Amino acid sequence: KRDASEFVPGSLELPRLREASRGCRGCDLYQDATQTVFGEGPPEADVLILGEQPGDREDREGEPFVGPAGKLLDRALVEAGIDRERVYVTNAVKHFKFTRSERGKQRIHKKPSRGEIVACRPWLVAELKAVRPRLVILLGATAASSLMGPSFKVTEHRGTLIEAPEEFEGTPEQVLPAVHPSSVLRAPDRDAAYEALVADLKAAPRAL
Ligand code: SF4
Repeated sequence: KRDASEFVPGSLELPRLREASRGCRGCDLYQDATQTVFGEGPPEADVLILGEQPGDREDREGEPFVGPAGKLLDRALVEAGIDRERVYVTNAVKHFKFTRSERGKQRIHKKPSRGEIVACRPWLVAELKAVRPRLVILLGATAASSLMGPSFKVTEHRGTLIEAPEEFEGTPEQVLPAVHPSSVLRAPDRDAAYEALVADLKAAPRAL
């Protein structure tokens, strides 16, 4: 079955992985997106934050979490006592998936399929091996399903530290599910949703 594995080099050097990810053809999402958006952050980070996929802004700039959801996440991390400079941020799927609005001007985010999440997973596994974080913060259902499997429910576990699957051999030791910051931006009561995200993230320092 087609996935990213044939494009992932054996190297555990992040710059090598990032460079190789530019040529990934592991699923069809590379065709319409501008570029691969690989993870960013210090290679010795204790915390890896996993989102869903790059958005419109990330796709154009080539960096993860630089759009509105990323800005909101930055604020929430500060409030939760997590130093963004010591965090590695990446996405479960590394190309932007979208549909065009009727007039074709706007690119509207589309949720990645299970097949695309699984196809892109070898990049995430390589990042986990390279960074060796102690904690992974799972932002939203796509991130959670990539790491924990499709039946894992963020709503049931958000804000609680959970032991990571054995497959990862202790890096990470634990995962922390939280809602995705873009769901806060869409929430009818944005302030309450934001406070709930901060509350989810506040469990992180206990794992470090
Ligand atoms: Fe490769 Fe992932 Fe992009 Fe698909 S989404 S082409 S698997 S990097």
